[in-house]
Amino acid sequence: MSLKYPSDIDLRRLLRFEPDSGAIWLGDRRMVLMHTNALAALRQDLISSVGPEHARRILTRMGYASGLSDAEYAKKTRPGEAMQDSFMVGPQLHMLEGAARVTPVKLSFDVQAGQFYGEFRWDHSWEAYAHRQKFGVVDDPACWMLQGYASGYTSAFMGRLILFKETLCAACGADHCQVVGRPIEEWPDGEAHRVYFTDDSLMEKMEALQSQVEALKSTLEPLGLGGQLIGNSVAFRKAYALMEKVAQTQATVLLTGETGVGKERFARALHELSNRADRPFVAVNCAALPAELIEAELFGVEKGAYTGAHAARAGRFERADGGTLLLDEVGEMPMAAQTKLLRVLQEGEIERVGSETTRKVNVRLVAATNVDLEQAVLAGRFRRDLLYRLNVYPICIPPLRERIADIDPLAQGMLTRFCALHSKRVLGFEERALQALQQHDWPGNVRELENLVERGVILASQGSMIEVEHLFPNQPEAAQTSVDAHGQLARLPSAQDDDLSARILNSGSSLEEIEARVLDLAVARARGNLSEAARLLGLTRPQLAYRQKRRHASDADAPSLEKPPLQE
Ligand SMILES: [Zn+2]
Repeated sequence: MSLKYPSDIDLRRLLRFEPDSGAIWLGDRRMVLMHTNALAALRQDLISSVGPEHARRILTRMGYASGLSDAEYAKKTRPGEAMQDSFMVGPQLHMLEGAARVTPVKLSFDVQAGQFYGEFRWDHSWEAYAHRQKFGVVDDPACWMLQGYASGYTSAFMGRLILFKETLCAACGADHCQVVGRPIEEWPDGEAHRVYFTDDSLMEKMEALQSQVEALKSTLEPLGLGGQLIGNSVAFRKAYALMEKVAQTQATVLLTGETGVGKERFARALHELSNRADRPFVAVNCAALPAELIEAELFGVEKGAYTGAHAARAGRFERADGGTLLLDEVGEMPMAAQTKLLRVLQEGEIERVGSETTRKVNVRLVAATNVDLEQAVLAGRFRRDLLYRLNVYPICIPPLRERIADIDPLAQGMLTRFCALHSKRVLGFEERALQALQQHDWPGNVRELENLVERGVILASQGSMIEVEHLFPNQPEAAQTSVDAHGQLARLPSAQDDDLSARILNSGSSLEEIEARVLDLAVARARGNLSEAARLLGLTRPQLAYRQKRRHASDADAPSLEKPPLQE
């Protein structure tokens, strides 16, 4: 069939300029005249801000939407005419709108049968021109909006997704562009192109980024309303409830607990929940300061008070005025400073080092310690009267091993934070890794967990899960469980186990002696806690008790043995 265009006078009549109302119309659709250099600038901005792939998607979809709109005129303006003339509305409008000169090369279609094949030549594509101006000659076709338009128009016309692809493009150095359109299923790489017509996932990516930013912010500002305090275990909730109760008062709070349990975070949360939240929170670690500087650090110093005091300086008490002062590791404070601190607490005023005058300060004091202050008093390292002053409202923060239920949520929270910090995408913890975290003893508490998770995030590969080896790299290989000859689940001895057995055999010790030594070691490691020792040995508590009793019985050469307890 001949591929001549019918007259486009019907389409030209659709176009109306209404300068009085400030509108341009194509039929009943409002249009706008835009500068191609403005569009070119937008294109460049898109490419540099979201990358060429996303820019291509956005522009393809924009062209696609225009094509869909124009397809309505095919039915409206040329109803009942030859199908081919009706189809030509698209290419003719595309020309009228200034996209390019469109010349049909091959066209055959059957709407009913869903068959389509079209080949068109585009001369003077504004888009190829704009792209070349900004980026020079490129390797890949760049008429994204034009292709989108052709695809959108033809898809609406045909009632199925027709994909147009450029086989030649002026942006790549050709003297014109050439496109071929076929149903998307007929293109070998059609599926890969579907993304250009589906909803952009950029929003999802932005949301993922947003949550990373939020996580990052929470690491940078650990203040956020106790947001750092994660925990649902009974032990943790008890401590948190105590803290909530005292927050609104002015009472001095003494936070106790092992190293790394998160005393500073607790103090910050306390501050955030108090009516001093909009005033400063100042923390000072008494153990980190040299004894001779601690007074100057806490109370400030006047110029010339000692060699090196070149200028007057406010101390932490003054800086915390109106707010909260945390004295961390207060048990490490030198005696002289303790005496001064006691006076400040009694009188509510401070005296800078080298000054004769006093200043009033209004500070809510929180002290934290991981040593037993009562013991320190007995040992003569801590003033009893100061202890009474500080110990108004003690809160003991439980160690992590007493908060097993909190390990999982804590680790997940840390994972999000460290992924943001190290620009890494890690999907989570493998089950075995989570189990190892639950079973660990946590001498270093939350801080140790934090270190482990950070190491895990660094060691895990991009886009994968944290494995147990990432958390505990030096752990001996875990025993393998497998199916034995009888089809039962059984623990298979590892190479290390074989080695150990050989050494035991070579040692010449009897089995009883070995067992006795292992039991003693477990009890010693568990610091006398028999349940803990049993756990270390993989026994129940009654089983351990039985073995111990049997031993002592044989020590005493007793002839009879109790029956062993039933296996649990
Ligand atoms: Zn092109």
